[in-house]
Amino acid sequence: MFGEIKGLNEECGIFGVYGHPQAAHMTYYGLHALQHRGQEGAGVVVSDGFDLKQSKGQGLVTDVLDEEELKSLSGHSAIGHVRYSTAGGKTVENIQPLYFRSSTGSLSIAHNGNLVNATKLRHELEETGSIFQTTSDTEVIAHLIKRAGRGPIINRMKQALNELEGAYAVVMLDEKRLVAALDPRGMRPLSLAKVCSGYAIASETCAFDVVGAEYIREIEPGELVVIDEKGIHFDRFQEPYNRSICSMEYIYFARPDSNVDRQNIHSVRKRLGKKLADVASVEADVVTGVPDSSISAAIGFAEQSGIPYELGLIKNRYVGRTFIQPSQALRERGVQMKLSAVKKIVEGKRVVMVDDSIVRGTTSKRIVKMLKEAGAAEVHVRISSPPITHPCFYGIDTSNSGELIAANYSVEEIRDIIGADSLSFLPVDAMVDAVDRNDPSPNCGHCLACFTGKYPTDLYEDSLPPHEKEKLIGVRS
Ligand code: AMP
Ligand code: SF4
Repeated sequence: MFGEIKGLNEECGIFGVYGHPQAAHMTYYGLHALQHRGQEGAGVVVSDGFDLKQSKGQGLVTDVLDEEELKSLSGHSAIGHVRYSTAGGKTVENIQPLYFRSSTGSLSIAHNGNLVNATKLRHELEETGSIFQTTSDTEVIAHLIKRAGRGPIINRMKQALNELEGAYAVVMLDEKRLVAALDPRGMRPLSLAKVCSGYAIASETCAFDVVGAEYIREIEPGELVVIDEKGIHFDRFQEPYNRSICSMEYIYFARPDSNVDRQNIHSVRKRLGKKLADVASVEADVVTGVPDSSISAAIGFAEQSGIPYELGLIKNRYVGRTFIQPSQALRERGVQMKLSAVKKIVEGKRVVMVDDSIVRGTTSKRIVKMLKEAGAAEVHVRISSPPITHPCFYGIDTSNSGELIAANYSVEEIRDIIGADSLSFLPVDAMVDAVDRNDPSPNCGHCLACFTGKYPTDLYEDSLPPHEKEKLIGVRS
């Protein structure tokens, strides 16, 4: 039973719009800008004020929705979702937004993040008669809203959200309104913008730029924003509690042109690279970054160290992210297909290869080999994040510590495994310093669990993979 649910860790992107005559088209463009957050499935649900209509499927936004499909989705408000899932949760039913009809009306929900008490809630709901159609956490939210009685929908949503534990940025749509909510720790990014005569909501601000929406502000942790024909209403379902935004959003996930909590991601990554140059300097001839997510950090490293930045690695744009390949063998092949070393640039040179993170070690090992085969005299690997030593249960696909190279080997052993001449990571304190969030919460408002093992929420035994249970129960920062 658990194996089935475990497969649902998701890194996703959500988008919502209210008050635009072509809401489905807007959502299409918004989702396209969020495509880096998930490429396995996409969906849109639209409301014309009376009824909801949906379209969803496996693949990229451009595969799932064409002009004809979008034309059939007429309406002034919509929500959408792009999805990444690990093996096991890839069925069409799990593609979001999920859409529920009942005697009291329709409701659609799209969710980014992962609930740590989903299994517990699901068992409780099943015991009281709920029947689930999917293995998605999102359906748990819908059942909780339904179970919350016959009062006003907003009260029922608030009651349901109060039962959730973990990371969740949510957009919900019924015939009359668009609702957005963020978990009380604000673990995932979610922002609000003005567009046309209405509003837009998105996981990342890059989605606003593409649809011409004007950024207003971040959705606050514990906040519930309701947009309907009367306008926009700011409500709260819980008080904010120890801000714990995912550090990996800054390090790897978010697009460089997005701002997360008012910080531009490219600038943050440059600062991470500069810090890295300060704490792990090395004599070398060129600095190169692993495209695309590490280019900003490599530029920062080069600027700070005075070693010239060069395009030592080229990416083939038409291959998906490394992680999408389901098996190790396929993943390794994926890395090979994705990158090439530029021989003329690296031949005979001492190369600093900057990457944003090491998860399993596959990418670094391949690239070091590639650079050496292209004639690099030395390859010094510099990572602009700390070693990932613990699994994530908040929606990032690193939920198995057995697969995390830094959970099982020392830095020197990893250096040896990946074949580098030297290897350094950015220490946790230096990383927090470089992001510079200036937040009074512990850890300056970061979640650092995958680097420190200190989880910002309780962990529930029945939601943990069996091999992680003994190690993790009761651990909390
Ligand atoms: P690995 O090859 O397993 O060590 O993965 C590290 C590479 O994947 C790095 O180049 C990162 O840019 C990227 N990466 C880091 N975290 C993730 C993640 N959670 N999902 C997908 N890719 C990731
Ligand atoms: Fe992000 Fe790591 Fe926290 Fe997961 S454990 S939410 S990846 S910082």
